[in-house]
Amino acid sequence: MSLPKTALITGAASGIGAEIAKTLFHDGCHAVIADLNEPEYLSDLSAPNQRCLYIPTDLSKQESCQALVDRVLQEFGSVDILVNNAGFQHISPLEEFPEIVWEKMLQVMLTAPFLLTRYLFPAMKQNNWGRIINMGSIHAQVASVNKAGYIAAKHGLVGLTKTTALEGGPFQITANVICPAYVRTPLVEQQIESQAKTMGISIEEVESQVFLKASATGKMIEPDEVASMVSYLCSEKAKSITGACWTIDGGWTAQ
Ligand code: NAD
Repeated sequence: MSLPKTALITGAASGIGAEIAKTLFHDGCHAVIADLNEPEYLSDLSAPNQRCLYIPTDLSKQESCQALVDRVLQEFGSVDILVNNAGFQHISPLEEFPEIVWEKMLQVMLTAPFLLTRYLFPAMKQNNWGRIINMGSIHAQVASVNKAGYIAAKHGLVGLTKTTALEGGPFQITANVICPAYVRTPLVEQQIESQAKTMGISIEEVESQVFLKASATGKMIEPDEVASMVSYLCSEKAKSITGACWTIDGGWTAQ
């Protein structure tokens, strides 16, 4: 029997990242969770030969990214799967977009994925195996108003993914970016609630008239749909899939 692979998932205390951590653990991996907050589900993940470890991390800081990698390499020797998932949203017109928020968005959603990839690449190369999954968004492919920082960071992540795929290819390291439309998580539920208040309409109306307006299926995406894609991309069956954007958008960008 082969040894469990080690998966490092950022932003896994909540939402999509939490579902990815649980799914990869159920796939037989050790799950290392890097987040500002401690996940509530840690004690639910237990298996005889697997570990689930939370490492408090602020991905907006280089030294915190470095400390995370040092700790995980010390505990596990290498990382086989890196899922750069942490992110946040800020909505504001361009001319009012706070510069400090712009910087933080790029640090968390573009610089941290670069740093973690850079620091973990040598161990992956040595193992001649690796999977890097970056969490993009539909906003890595198309724009919407008032989301300059998010859209710039997510578009940048596509470029980073493609370069990683080219440099990792000879070492059987694949890199892919997943691009979901709206997924039902705390990040989106907060936006829906605030728009319902601002627009004076119900939560259901905001979902159908605003968030799902461009969706052909007319349904919010569930976190486990994204986690299943991650699980597949981490499998041996996906060894030739690299440098690609995997869109999960209910048909949004088909029009
Ligand atoms: P979420 O708010 O539920 O989870 C995000 C996690 O990232 C949180 O646990 C948070 O603590 C963590 N995080 C934020 N800043 C951090 C930092 N500086 N250091 C460490 N951790 C930090 O959000 P989600 O909806 O699950 O989003 C996860 C990813 O999926 C994000 O990259 C987001 O852009 C992307 N995404 C989400 C949607 C959606 O509709 N929910 C759609 C497309 C893409």
